[in-house]
Amino acid sequence: MNAMDNGPNLPKLESGTHPFASTPCERLRAVHVRIARAAADAGRDAATVRLLAASKTFDAAEVRAMAACGQHEFGENYLQEALEKQTTLRDLQLEWHFIGPIQSNKTRAIAEHFSWVHSVDRLKIAERLSAQRPPDLPPLQVCIELNVSGEASKGGVAVAELPVLAEAVSRLPGLRLRGLMAIPAPATDVATQRAAFRQVREAYEALIARGHALDTLSMGMSADLDAAIREGATIVRIGTALFGERIKNA
Ligand SMILES: *Cc1c(COP(=O)(O)O)cnc(C)c1O
Repeated sequence: MNAMDNGPNLPKLESGTHPFASTPCERLRAVHVRIARAAADAGRDAATVRLLAASKTFDAAEVRAMAACGQHEFGENYLQEALEKQTTLRDLQLEWHFIGPIQSNKTRAIAEHFSWVHSVDRLKIAERLSAQRPPDLPPLQVCIELNVSGEASKGGVAVAELPVLAEAVSRLPGLRLRGLMAIPAPATDVATQRAAFRQVREAYEALIARGHALDTLSMGMSADLDAAIREGATIVRIGTALFGERIKNA
């Protein structure tokens, strides 16, 4: 596949377009070009990398504008904010992913209103999501969040505890375990970025070797998506590069 063919319904950039893209469609296109380049560098087909637009703090109108450019999958961190956007945008066929920390009193609404959850990191939450998933919906697609930076304050399960959690999650009837998600500590050099993502990939491959049928590595954000794709990311979660800097503290 040619890099320029990547992504659905993307308008062509006119020659002479300013390199610092400023419309939503230009920013989306620029991210697809970055994905295509990183995939090509990794010897991968760019179609194996999905773009999840991380839209926290951006309002429904901004999500609508990005959807009009051809983006359909959106990731949200805050339940109330997400539910409001979903209501405003219910005329669109969007796929919603929950990517933020999960409190137990939020699991029912998450199980009811999202297709995916990337941030499962303890069994109690997984059990609640499974039990509360409405039976008329397909199983909730989930990733287990892995803590690779070893910071106790950060979300995610420790690598040593991953196999037991994955085994338990994979048995829950309302969930379908798809893979792993990680948010490594920010690093500016590519070698450090890649080392963290490599740890996630190795943990993922170890689960596959134990018999789990996984296909998703959710890793890479605006600053490190290239390194993540080099290490096997199948979903990159991109906020700033698509929507601009967040003004609210998030
Ligand atoms: C905000 C957020 C992103 C996107 O981060 P950017 O650096 O703005 O691209 C990705 N993943 C999660 C879990 C987030 O909270």
